[in-house]
Order: sequence, then structure tokens, then C-alpha cells
Amino acid sequence: MKARIGLEIHVQLTEAGSKLFCGCKSNYRGMEPNTNVCPVCLGLPGAIPVPSRRAILLSLASASAFRCAIPTAIVFTRKHYFYPDLPKNYQITQYEKVGGAPVCSGGEVEYLEPGSWEWRKVRLRRINLEEDPGRTVYGEGGILASSHALVDYNRSGVPLLEIVTEPDIPSPRDARLLVESILLTLEYIGAVNPRLEGAFRVDANISLEGGDRVEVKNIGSLQDVEKALAYEEVRQRRLLEAGGRVERETRHWDSIRGVTKPLRHKETEEEYLYFPDPDLPPVIPGRRLAEEARALASKTPRRVLERITGLGVKIEVAWSLVSSKPAAQLYLAAVERGADPWLAARMLGIDYKGELREAGRDPGDPGNWPSLDKILDLIGYVERGVYPYDTVKGLVLPRLAMDPGVPLREVLPEAVTDPGRIVDEVLTSEPGAVEDYLRGRTKALNYLVGAVMKRAGGRAVDPRLVRRLLLERLEKMRGGGG
Ligand code: ADP
Ligand code: MG
Ligand code: ZN
Repeated sequence: MKARIGLEIHVQLTEAGSKLFCGCKSNYRGMEPNTNVCPVCLGLPGAIPVPSRRAILLSLASASAFRCAIPTAIVFTRKHYFYPDLPKNYQITQYEKVGGAPVCSGGEVEYLEPGSWEWRKVRLRRINLEEDPGRTVYGEGGILASSHALVDYNRSGVPLLEIVTEPDIPSPRDARLLVESILLTLEYIGAVNPRLEGAFRVDANISLEGGDRVEVKNIGSLQDVEKALAYEEVRQRRLLEAGGRVERETRHWDSIRGVTKPLRHKETEEEYLYFPDPDLPPVIPGRRLAEEARALASKTPRRVLERITGLGVKIEVAWSLVSSKPAAQLYLAAVERGADPWLAARMLGIDYKGELREAGRDPGDPGNWPSLDKILDLIGYVERGVYPYDTVKGLVLPRLAMDPGVPLREVLPEAVTDPGRIVDEVLTSEPGAVEDYLRGRTKALNYLVGAVMKRAGGRAVDPRLVRRLLLERLEKMRGGGG
């Protein structure tokens, strides 16, 4: 029994700055309830919505990143329902019928399948730009038993993308990879900070051959996308195998118990009484806006990945960089300033990211990465042989992963500043070994390397550099002395 999965992903344009139709902030986190509000987002009579240019720009950039043509007109639609978190009793959204025009019809999303390293594609049905409703907060006992409900309108009116896919997705794991790819793309083009609490929610539809589809609502994390769908796939399979029927229904994902449960009846299309919002004339994207949107949309993870593999970095390592935006940014900046592409990839994409994971810190959070100058210093030390890579990897990277702000001099062991001088001193004080080497006993070189390391007296120096310096000088002696 093959599964078919289609997703509806709601993502806040957290980086829009303002709400969709007023000047209140798009990021309301940490604010006192009902302080990020005004007559427009409270739906007070007579208040007139005015579309935010930046929200429109970011929505068009998002559409364009998913291969949608920039529409000639955007028409907002009213969708009516009665709920306390929606003070106007309608949501301003988009709709492809009754004269509406969404920011995107069609389009597609690509995601990289780590394993085969192939790009897979899922078709999009549409992308709507709409208002997020307010937030309802229940007391003890939650929605079922609480004696009261409080409403916080700080979120009301925040620009929200509703991204709807075709039912092309073959498995719960593919569904998670797809959502990851959508969020990463929106992060790269500067539309969303997916790490903010509540920045995205997913409703997942799944059907098996021979059964109707079930919609699972309220999925709030990437892991839960996969878990909820895997649960539902097994539930439906068992039902069908036992000769039962899967009815079309809406279920709720209970992330604490890890199960889906039946939910209320949903309004039908007709009950929403859709019509174009008479307060909002169609938005006609001009040439400047369209160009700006396309420029933002060009900075996709795939483009950055191709740039990094183009520098000779293996795709596994390149993807490790790209899948954490701050890593990729730091990497490209370091390479631009002359860092060796492979060394920088190893340091940032493999070892530092590995340390962050070990420490349980999010590699996607820019606050967990050291400054560019620090990275350039470390790469420079390794390139000049001041410190062996293993010293940086073993002593420095773990400390920085705990505290990226710690100064390097507090972490680095004392280093030999002039290895050439010690090499010369050893060549003078060990004439016997030099003689041996020149007579063809190449093992004497190891003895000389050891003598230099001893003379360094516990200070750091790269043995590979010491070996190179010794060889240079010994070969010169051989050439000069005959
Ligand atoms: P609605 O009218 O309830 O919004 P849509 O037809 O617009 O329903 O589809 C909503 C979502 O359900 C889409 O993401 C779509 O891909 C998905 N979907 C539709 N048919 C199926 C199916 N047979 N199996 C799984 N998902 C489906
Ligand atoms: Mg919907
Ligand atoms: Zn407002």
C-alpha cells in the first residue's frame, strides 16, 4: 500500500519587520500580551489595512525561490469564520477563485536526499499570503477543562505564508526533508528565522491506496512531521488490512503522547463566504519590486551548495555547511579572505559543527559560531604550521563550541613563533645525525624532528612543518656540500 502525502505549511514572515497590514512588529516574542497591537490588527471598526511593502516583497521572493512566476496582480480575499482569536470575524487571505489572486500558483520545491545525494521535486499547488490570527491561551485543564480562555492579539496580523503542496510526497521521511528544505530556503532568502518559537506549523494530509485521506493538524516541529505521519501511516494500514475503512477526517497531533486523535468537523468551502476584500485594491508588483524579489530568491541553498562543491569540496561536507546557514556564510567569507577551501570546510563543516552537536547546541543559530576573524586566525595558524590541525581540533574547537566568544589566546597553548630558528639550532647541535642523513640513512630525519620537538619544550609546533623545514635545509646542504 503506497502512501501519498500532501502538506500545508504555514510559515510566518518573521523578517518582514512589521505585520502585514499595519506597523506593529512581525516578531512579537517576549512582549507583554496585547502590547503589539493597533486598531488595524485589533479589527476595530473603520480601521483600514495597508499592505506592507516588505511583506509583499518577501512573499514574492519566496514564491520566486519556489519557481513561481511573479504574478501581475495580487488580490486579497476575505475568509469568514467566527473565533475569538480573529477579531474582524474574517481573515484576510488569498484564494484562487471568486476573483482572488495568490502570490503563487504552481511552482515546485526541491529537496536533497542525503544518502543518494539526489535532488527530489514536489509540485506546489499554491502559496497564499495571509494574516496570522491571535493566540488563545487556556487556563488549567487546557482547551477541554479550563474555566476561561485569554486572547493575546500580539500575533494577530503577522504575515503568514500558506504553502500547499500536491500529494506527491512518498514517505514521512521525505515529508520532513521537504519541510526542512522549505524552511532553509526561506531562511537563506532572508524571509524567515525558522528557529523562532512558533515560526511554522504544518498540517499533513496522508492517504493509502484504497483509503480516503486524513488531515493531521497542529504539527509544530520537524521531528513531529515525520513522527505524526509515520503514526498515521501505520494506523491507516492496520485499519485497511483488518478490512476496515479509512474515512476522510481531520485529526489532531498530540506531540506529548505521540498519537493522532479525531478532531472537530471543519467548515466547508461555502461556509467561508470568500470574496475579494473591498478595503484592499489589487497590488500590482512593479518592475523594481519584481527585480528585488528575484534577486533575493537567487540566494537559495542549492546555489550556495553548488558554489561550495565548485571549490572542490565533497558534497557531504558542502551540505553540512549549507544546511546550517551561519556555517555556510562564515565559510564563504573565510574563503573570500583567502582561506584554503578544503581546510575551512573541514574545520567548519565537519569538526566545529560536530562539536556543536556534541555540546547539544544548534548549529543553525548564528550565536553559536565564532567570529570570522577568529576562524581566519585559526586557519592561518594551521596553514603557517604554528599549530598542527589536531591541536586546533582537539583543544580549540571544543572550547569555542561551548563559548564562541572566548579569546583565542585563552584557549591556545603557547606556540613556537620561529620554528626555523630551532631547526637551525638543532642542525648545528646534531652533526652526527645530519651526517647520517646525508649518507643516505633517511631514518635520521625522524631523530632530527624529535630533537626539534624536544627543543620546543612543550610549546606547540606542527611536526609536519618541522619535517618540511628540515628537509629543505638538508637537501640544500646536500646540493651545496656535494
Ligand atoms: P482542502 O480543500 O481541504 O484544502 P485540497 O484539495 O486543497 O483540500 O488539499 C489540501 C491538501 O491535501 C494538499 O496539500 C493536498 O496535497 C493534500 N491532498 C489532496 N488529496 C490527497 C490524497 N489523496 N492523499 C494525501 N494528500 C492529499
Ligand atoms: Mg488551508
Ligand atoms: Zn497593528
